[in-house]
Amino acid sequence: MTNDPIRVIEEKCTGCKLCVKTCPFEAIVVENRLARIDLTKCTLCGACVTACRFNAIEIREKTSEGTEDLGAYKDVWVFTEQTDGQIQSVTYELLGEGRKLADDLGMKLCAVVLGSEMNDAVKKLTARGAEKVYVVDKPELAYFQDEPYSAILIELVKKYKPCIFLCGATTIGRSLISRVAVSVKAGLTADCTALAIDPETKNLLQTRPAFGGNIMATIICPNARPQMSTVRHKVMKEADIDESRTGEILVEEVAVQLLKSRVKRLNFVPERETTINIAEANIIVSGGRGLQKPENFAVIRDLAEVLGAGVGSSRAAVDAGWIPYSHQVGQTGKTVCPKIYIACGISGQIQHLAGMSSSDIIVAINKDPDAPIFKYATYGIVGDALKIVPMLTEQFRKVLGK
Ligand SMILES: Cc1cc2nc3c(=O)[nH]c(=O)nc-3n(C[C@H](O)[C@H](O)[C@H](O)COP(=O)(O)OP(=O)(O)OC[C@H]3O[C@@H](n4cnc5c(N)ncnc54)[C@H](O)[C@@H]3O)c2cc1C
Repeated sequence: MTNDPIRVIEEKCTGCKLCVKTCPFEAIVVENRLARIDLTKCTLCGACVTACRFNAIEIREKTSEGTEDLGAYKDVWVFTEQTDGQIQSVTYELLGEGRKLADDLGMKLCAVVLGSEMNDAVKKLTARGAEKVYVVDKPELAYFQDEPYSAILIELVKKYKPCIFLCGATTIGRSLISRVAVSVKAGLTADCTALAIDPETKNLLQTRPAFGGNIMATIICPNARPQMSTVRHKVMKEADIDESRTGEILVEEVAVQLLKSRVKRLNFVPERETTINIAEANIIVSGGRGLQKPENFAVIRDLAEVLGAGVGSSRAAVDAGWIPYSHQVGQTGKTVCPKIYIACGISGQIQHLAGMSSSDIIVAINKDPDAPIFKYATYGIVGDALKIVPMLTEQFRKVLGK
């Protein structure tokens, strides 16, 4: 048997030429009733494999070391995002989702944590269901840095071969995991909003918005491992806490050179938030183009202050320069899942809905009774937001005694 990444199984091939018609790269010919693949043209796109009715074509992952055994990859890994030793809640959401995937595969759920003095963090991870925790605990890893973090993860992936590796679609996660994926030659699906296991193939089904959010695409990585995804914050439910759970703790030693970084953190300046961070808020009051001018965001801020809520916005308001990007909700902004989302002067385009439609209660205030947002709203008020929002603020102030 050759080490070619794709091969025709001669005993099964009938020479029917379906693969020839399907191949977009004209890489297949049939000679003497047998398909032959020109590897200089083939891109391993897999179209012929799917088209062949006789299962006569097979793709195998080929690495520089030779043919890879995908079956050697086990377990579902979650990257633990921490800031100053505090685990970020996206990690618990990944553990919640990872639990289901691991159960469906009959594999273990594992967390990987890099940091300094992480003992407390490790206990929290096992309480949230991690059966194994890989720990690299070094002063040099106290805060996130691209180079050492990715170098260490690459080492761990090569050593332990996880089947699935999940990471938050956060600033840190996006920067980190793409480096790891490229280095280990794995596929990576960014910004997933749903994950599942294909019951037949056991591949990870990774769903994310595509084509400007107009369709949801499900992506698979059948030929490489690990299957890697970043997952949006606040889309999945956090794993339950059970303090009685324990897990296996594997403290890893790493070579000193892996800890080196060409970048030094001189200072940390937190973003100045005048209001509550919307990704964590229980209530969000959000404004859109219907507010007409930047000064009118004052009515949104007033209501948010009385309710102890975060201030959100549509992209139209951000693009107009009325409010900073950190407040944008939607496909290219933040995904939020508050108990109450109050949308004021927002039409409810699909890209906005992508970021807030899982809110428990949606209140829409819009002067157009046909605005799409009303289809998703729990409560709708048709009217001028600039008049209605101040009335609500006044009433809440009275009721809440503020
Ligand atoms: C690739 C891509 C990514 C995108 N990402 C995002 C994203 O992350 N988030 C996002 O929000 N959008 C996003 N968009 C833009 C999105 O398609 C919409 O253009 C945007 O959401 C519209 O914002 P809006 O509802 O504020 O404005 P509009 O659609 O203009 O709606 C304004 C609404 O205000 C109402 N109105 C007007 N005056 C009043 C009033 N006085 N009182 C009450 N109601 C009033 C109107 O009836 C109207 O329904 C994206 C688009 C693309 C192509």
